[in-house]
Amino acid sequence: MPKTRLEIVTAEKLIYSEDVDMVVAPGVEGYLGILPRHTPLMTMLNPGELRIKKDGEEIDMAITGGFLEVRPDKVVVLADAAERAEEIDIARAEAAKRRAEERLAGKAPEADLALAEASLARALVRLKVAERRRRRERPLHPK
Ligand code: ATP
Repeated sequence: MPKTRLEIVTAEKLIYSEDVDMVVAPGVEGYLGILPRHTPLMTMLNPGELRIKKDGEEIDMAITGGFLEVRPDKVVVLADAAERAEEIDIARAEAAKRRAEERLAGKAPEADLALAEASLARALVRLKVAERRRRRERPLHPK
């Protein structure tokens, strides 16, 4: 099976660099699935879930927005921030969510509201990705 090289980078570090079977990313116009030999494209990314399929395994990540480029030789994701599901600190995301909600409920100036909305969106994506992982790992019939 052909694979495609996937690189996920932030301003700070290289997060991921592997040959993968498929990547599903949260494009601004909807989720897009990219298989090897996909036509070159560029798109902005929304905060959302990024899913990688590799050798029958699935890796889930939360990304908080960014940019995706499909090149002939690789797929590059420039992410604002990206965390694997197992790396997400749930308590931290819950605290960020609470702070953002408090700011949205108060009478903050408009610019602050936009920041609070963006912060809330990041927290919600992190909680969604972490929760999905938790549900997957929870056995259906615990002994
Ligand atoms: P907070 O208010 O908790 O800092 P934030 O949304 O402002 O959240 P970001 O600016 O998106 O945080 O990210 C800053 C750094 O912290 C990035 O490296 C990101 O991967 C990491 N990060 C943020 N929240 C979490 C979390 N809940 N779990 C793990 N890493 C996180």
